[in-house]
Amino acid sequence: MEWRIPLTDIDVGQEEIDAVAEVLRSKWLTMGAVTEEFEKQFAAKMNVGHAIAVNNGTAALHLANLALGIGPGDEVICPNITFVASANASRYCGADLAFADVISQDDLTIAPASIEAMITPRTRAITVVHYGGFVCRMDEVMGIARTHGLKVIEDCAHAPFASHSFVDGAEAFAGAMGDVGCFSFFGNKNMTTGEGGMVTTNDDDLAARIRLLRSHGMTSLTYERHKGHASGYDVVTLGYNYRTDEMHSAMGICQLRKIDQLNSKRRQIYRWYIAAFADSHNVRIPFTHRDLDRSACHILPAIVTSDYTGVKQRLKNAGIQTSKHYDPVSGFSIYTDSRRADKMFDGSSILTLPLGPQMELSDVELIREVCG
Ligand SMILES: *Cc1c(COP(=O)(O)O)cnc(C)c1O
Repeated sequence: MEWRIPLTDIDVGQEEIDAVAEVLRSKWLTMGAVTEEFEKQFAAKMNVGHAIAVNNGTAALHLANLALGIGPGDEVICPNITFVASANASRYCGADLAFADVISQDDLTIAPASIEAMITPRTRAITVVHYGGFVCRMDEVMGIARTHGLKVIEDCAHAPFASHSFVDGAEAFAGAMGDVGCFSFFGNKNMTTGEGGMVTTNDDDLAARIRLLRSHGMTSLTYERHKGHASGYDVVTLGYNYRTDEMHSAMGICQLRKIDQLNSKRRQIYRWYIAAFADSHNVRIPFTHRDLDRSACHILPAIVTSDYTGVKQRLKNAGIQTSKHYDPVSGFSIYTDSRRADKMFDGSSILTLPLGPQMELSDVELIREVCG
């Protein structure tokens, strides 16, 4: 089906085509100089010590959990309203999940009070998700983590270059506040390489561990041996193959050049939604109290206050694509035994409306008209 207004769109053009073609002509396709350059530029722009490129965001989250030593017997606190990969990554390591509530329907990030209520002696880490591109309450999250000696993993799949201003005046991008930040460059994310991801950290030891785990636990890479910088290798830990390649990294460098402009277009569209829906009978826009200039405005998770099925059907009939971010993770069969906060928001009122950098004001006005 060809949607009149698709859920999202991306900005990929001649620049990416040329960059990927140049890699192909070079005939060095596996992780090498282009990936090193992508990592260097990402880390510099993020103002973070290390950026380690991987093959997808789920691998980034898995490496974060592994590098932090999460294992069987541990518990990791994760928000209930997120993509299942945020939780699965801890489960891969044998840990149990404990699901925390979001703040409210107007702020769908993890509630610090709910995190605190879920802590037990087995809790080792908190995975926060900067949902929709809006940074979690990191002053409180980091305070709780310090008090209880917990690690913090930031799932930044929605939030490349979203930022936070701490009460003490310090500023940081999402992914540079906790112990490890995890990014996704999947085909519908703010910056995309088709499949792709990045791990960020300011901790030198964690970065070294993540680099080892990314490539079989081997002490040297094919590229280093090719350049004559290394001849043999040892395998010092049980690693994985979570490497990216030069084609994806070449695209990533192009997307990195565009991300500020793409994010600012998204913020403008979010503002159009806030204005258009101010007097809607059926739909409320969340996060209106937030500073949009600090958000990556990844999605538009509208809250339907009445006639959910009717609104959804009318949008579909008008050729307007919708989705839902998300059904609660604790509701999936594999997590039925997990601990969870009482009476959590179940996401049932969320209806994700279109938001992509190519949208125009008239699109938002049409969506408003159809929603009522
Ligand atoms: C997309 C996404 C991921 C997973 O990223 P992949 O690159 O698809 O593996 C993880 N968490 C959240 C919140 C996401 O939106």
